[in-house]
Amino acid sequence: MSTIKLEIVSPDKVVYTEDIGMLIVRSTGGELGILPHHAPLVTGLVPHAMRVRIDQDRDEQLIAVAGGFMEVTPEKITVLATAAEMPIDIDINRAKEAMTRAKERIAKFHEGTPEAKEIDIRRAELAMGRAMARLRATKTEFAEP
Ligand code: ATP
Repeated sequence: MSTIKLEIVSPDKVVYTEDIGMLIVRSTGGELGILPHHAPLVTGLVPHAMRVRIDQDRDEQLIAVAGGFMEVTPEKITVLATAAEMPIDIDINRAKEAMTRAKERIAKFHEGTPEAKEIDIRRAELAMGRAMARLRATKTEFAEP
């Protein structure tokens, strides 16, 4: 089976580097499946749990990404992430707390009270997206917003 090199880097470290069979990501333009020898591509990524398949015999590996960019060449996929974590490195309680904070802000914004004007709704939605990505990557159950 042919493979493609995947390197995921965050501002402080190389999070993941491996020869893989397939990567499924959520880009700003929608879901993309990347196989070896893919055509060159550069795209933005939204917060989500990336899905990595090494080969047919192994289960899918999930990796949380907070956002960033992906560059694809026929031989290599580079993900430059604003933050990315392997499931083992994710603090589930921290992600649940971030999710609760974001949900509360979003609810307040929609209540339309004078306080709501202070809320940056886009920022709250992105924070919720990052928390959801971390909970999905760790297969943690949560109530969908
Ligand atoms: P929080 O509000 O909990 O800080 P956040 O989504 O605002 O969450 P980020 O700005 O995406 O956090 O990330 C800041 C740093 O903290 C990054 O290095 C990221 O990898 C790390 N990080 C954030 N949340 C978690 C988590 N639940 N488990 C492990 N590392 C985390």
